[in-house]
Amino acid sequence: MRQKHKILFEYKYEPKKLKHGYTDKMLYVNVGENRIEEKDVPQEVKEKFIGGKGYGLRYLWDAVNPDTKWDSEENEIVMSAGPIAGITQYPGTGKTLVCSISPMTDIPIDSNVGGYIGPYLKFSGWDGLEVQGKAKEDVVIVIDGTEGKITIETAPEEAVDGHVLGEQLTEMYAKDEHEKRQISVITAGTAAENTRMGILNFSFYDIRRKVPRLKQAGRGGLGTVLRNKKIKGIVVKSKPVKGDLNNPYDQSIINKTGIKLHKEIAHHDHEQNNMHRIGTAALLDVMPDFDLLPVNNFQYGTHKDAKKINTKVFINKYLTQGMVDGCWYGCSLACTKAADNFEIKTGPYKGHKVVVDGPEYENAAGLGSNCGIFDPEAILELNFYCDTYGIDTISYGTSTAFAMECYERGIINKEITGGLELEFGNIDASLELIHQMSRGEGFGKVVGQGILRMKKLFAEEYGAEPDFLFDIGTEQKGLEYAEYVCKESLAQQGGFGFTNKGPQHDEAWLIVMDMVNNQIPTFEDKAEALHYYPMFRTWFGLLGLCKLPWNDIVPEGNEKTEEPAKIQEHVQNYLDLFYGITGKTITKEDMIVQSEKIYNFQRVFNIRMGKGLRKHDKSPYRMMGPVTKEEYESRQERYDTQLKEKVGYNPEGKTTEEKIKALREFKYDQYEQLADAVYKRRGWTMNGVPTKEKLQDLGMDFPEVLEVIEKHL
Ligand code: SF4
Repeated sequence: MRQKHKILFEYKYEPKKLKHGYTDKMLYVNVGENRIEEKDVPQEVKEKFIGGKGYGLRYLWDAVNPDTKWDSEENEIVMSAGPIAGITQYPGTGKTLVCSISPMTDIPIDSNVGGYIGPYLKFSGWDGLEVQGKAKEDVVIVIDGTEGKITIETAPEEAVDGHVLGEQLTEMYAKDEHEKRQISVITAGTAAENTRMGILNFSFYDIRRKVPRLKQAGRGGLGTVLRNKKIKGIVVKSKPVKGDLNNPYDQSIINKTGIKLHKEIAHHDHEQNNMHRIGTAALLDVMPDFDLLPVNNFQYGTHKDAKKINTKVFINKYLTQGMVDGCWYGCSLACTKAADNFEIKTGPYKGHKVVVDGPEYENAAGLGSNCGIFDPEAILELNFYCDTYGIDTISYGTSTAFAMECYERGIINKEITGGLELEFGNIDASLELIHQMSRGEGFGKVVGQGILRMKKLFAEEYGAEPDFLFDIGTEQKGLEYAEYVCKESLAQQGGFGFTNKGPQHDEAWLIVMDMVNNQIPTFEDKAEALHYYPMFRTWFGLLGLCKLPWNDIVPEGNEKTEEPAKIQEHVQNYLDLFYGITGKTITKEDMIVQSEKIYNFQRVFNIRMGKGLRKHDKSPYRMMGPVTKEEYESRQERYDTQLKEKVGYNPEGKTTEEKIKALREFKYDQYEQLADAVYKRRGWTMNGVPTKEKLQDLGMDFPEVLEVIEKHL
């Protein structure tokens, strides 16, 4: 196949060595003009934007204008790993952050992903990569850090689906088996071409299984942007990994901090979250007990069949144990589990025995319970196809669940779905939908546009009631909700609702603090948490870190500390790592300020692109309380008690409809009061706009930023 490649452009360079985690060089590739350039990162950008998502948003801002759409020539995919990424001594240090204008939301998306690309880019001389333009035919970009050569090549014959193309490109650019580990590949998939919810697969070569495994930059349609640019894949080839390639300021402190966490993991993971055996799917055992597992489009939080997809089932029957399942070197939490030799039952890979990466909790809940599916093999098959076809499991699961509810309520019918009986629990229908997305046909294409666009279509074409669709369509800003029922946690409603990119749980996950432990009872407490945690978690995305080793393993005695949820001992680890890499001493307050700069910049970026105001932070009522009679009556006692005790409304003798109305008014009022408190704490106007003073305090009062907010003050 490689013989069929035509080199469209070749660029030779001298890979710059890292110093204290940085090369201070960005690589710019324009596939429309076949142009490759290197850019020096200005000192001010380095100081204020740090790396990772900070660089992603800064370079994306400069590339686009307020009229840019996701499929405009000038839209970019920008990726950067951040200064800590690439060390091998501390678990969870290989993350890349990817930004673009999203096909789902029309505003910037940021998505974090494991795999080797980000560190390999750094070792090849680049703090980040900007890709712009649209190629005329299918191309691959090959960045060879071992030879100092970058090419844009036509790629007419390779597959598009992620697992096949990942193997083809790895084989193609490695001289031998040994070199395969030096290669990491970005792919999307056939369904990424036909929907808005395409993902990017980032590979890491698994030397035991002898296959490239895939991690996903899942949210917001990044794979759709890649395929719209006619890029089939991006290959990065790095020199072999060594522990000191970041050229850190003080290697010894990094080593010491790493050893401490490895010991904690070795001693406590098996008695805490068991991440090395089951990964994030551990939540499958906990969520149903607290009424938090999404069932049938978030109507319910538990189900009698939930045990059919609990951790025991996956551990005992499907997930291979005893493998080194870290998605970057040195991660002893090793949560990237896989089902080996899984035989595919449908579609073009029927009969193939494949490695299925996952399922992570979100996959199992989104593809499974939220669609009424409690069959582990169906979940694995859907998970495989989502990954290889290049589809976001969360957007797929939540959108399909919405379509299923619309079907069951008669809003759409068999005629509209092209014969698909989209009832909850219909595995065949869900699989057929995903195959249709791959082929670009039928109702799969409709669901692949996401809930925002389905709502519009169903209202305009099929006469559906827009208000009801708004209630049950669990998207916000165009992005589908991640898989947690948050009706009983006001703080988590805000944790989803007041995000920048849309309702994704990586900014704030406050359900346990709020609902289970009742640690943040007042609006001010919740607002403080909705300030601290999103800022703290943003920091991971600036530095190239995985969030899981922060709080999915906790040190002994943590529960006796003043604020156990913050895991202060681990926060200190991060400060030590930052010092060890960069030589700069920062405090935990400085960390929050570093993140606040980016968070506010992103908020203004949203406003620049037409969203980011209070009205865009509204929540669909399905995520706040019972929309329908059945939902209310399924938890009648709970809701009646809430009406009596919290609302001061006597439910005696009232119809369910009357009670739903009273509860809804109360819940909306609570949400609005929370918005006031959060905006105040974040230094925003009551319309959700960062104030001039706030931006000045943060040193983010660039003229182009002030110009955007001035129209809204
Ligand atoms: S904890 Fe899991 S996702 Fe995070 S770096 Fe380790 S293996 Fe990857």
